[in-house]
Amino acid sequence: MYNYYPLSHNSKINLYPVELVEIDQLRVEEQNLGPASKEILKTSIHNWNKALVGRTSFALKLAGLEEDSHQMVFNNDGLMSEFACLKTIKDIETFSKKYGLLGIMPPDSEQVNSQFPLIKATLQPSLLFNNYGFSVFEPVELWQWHIKQVQKILRLYHAIRKASSDELIYEIVEIKMHSGMFGSLAEDRAITNRYFVHWTDGEEILMLPEDFEEKPILEIAQYTIARVLESHISGGINLGVGDLISKPSTKGFMIKEKRYSRYLLAAIYYDLWQTINNSKNVYICKNKDCRLPFVRSGRREHCNDACRQAAYRIRLEEKEGENNI
Ligand SMILES: [Zn+2]
Repeated sequence: MYNYYPLSHNSKINLYPVELVEIDQLRVEEQNLGPASKEILKTSIHNWNKALVGRTSFALKLAGLEEDSHQMVFNNDGLMSEFACLKTIKDIETFSKKYGLLGIMPPDSEQVNSQFPLIKATLQPSLLFNNYGFSVFEPVELWQWHIKQVQKILRLYHAIRKASSDELIYEIVEIKMHSGMFGSLAEDRAITNRYFVHWTDGEEILMLPEDFEEKPILEIAQYTIARVLESHISGGINLGVGDLISKPSTKGFMIKEKRYSRYLLAAIYYDLWQTINNSKNVYICKNKDCRLPFVRSGRREHCNDACRQAAYRIRLEEKEGENNI
C-alpha cells in the first residue's frame, strides 16, 4: 500500500483516493476500505482525538481500495512551493487528492492513555506530528502545522538572504537562555545555562551547541535551518539502486543512486532542501493581508492568483479613497 515518491527522477506512482471528512460524521463501518484498514482507521481516529483533545474537527482520510487508485507521473520539483501556499481546508483537500496523504502515523494507544507525566509531555505537535509511517487518517491540524513549519523555514531562508538581515532574522527566531540539566552523560548531570533557538511564536527549535553561542545570528540562522531540515528528513528518505554504469577500462562498475521516499511529507521537505541548495529566490507576497513566503517563478509578485486580484482590488479602493477626498 506504500507509495514510492521518486526524489531524484520522475516516475509513475499509484495514488489511493483521499477525501476530506468531518470527524463527528464519520462512520467507520460504512467506509469503502478493507478490514485491516478499517481497524487502523478506528484506532487512528480514537488516538488522534485523545491526543488533540477536541482541537480537531476535520481530517483527510483514505477513501478507497486499490482498484479505486489512479496513476500520476510524480515530479518532486515544485512540490514544496505548492504545499507552502495552501491556505484553506479546501486547498489542503485539493492537494491531498492530487498527491496523497502526508504519511504521519497516529500516536500509539499506550502514549495517549498513559498517566505518566513524562509520556503525557510527548503529546505536543512537534513530537506527535513528526512520526513517519503508514497512515489512513490525518487531522487537518497536522497538515496545518507542517504548512506553517515550511512557511517559517522559507521566511527564515528569505531573511538570511537579505542584506543587513539581522533585524529580519530576529523577527522569525529568537535566542532564549534556559537553565537545566542538558548533558547526556551521567557525569555531567549538573544544572547549567544553555542557549536555545525558538521560533518567535514560542516553539522551541533546538539547543545551540556551545561553539555557536558567540557566533553571529546569520550563522545561527543557517545552522538552525540545516538542523530543522535534518529533523524532518531523517527517517523519511531512502536510497535505492539506479542504473549500472560499467567502466571497461578498469573492469569496475558504478551503481547510480536513486532517492525516493515512502512519505509525501518527506518529499516536500526534500524539495525545500533542494530549493535552498539551488539558491532559488523566495519572495513575500505583496498582498498585505497575506504576506506569505513563496518561491518565485517568473516575475510574480503574489503567492497565487487570488492574492494578485485581492491586491489589485485594494489598490483600486485606495485610489478611489484618494479621489473622494
Ligand atoms: Zn498571497
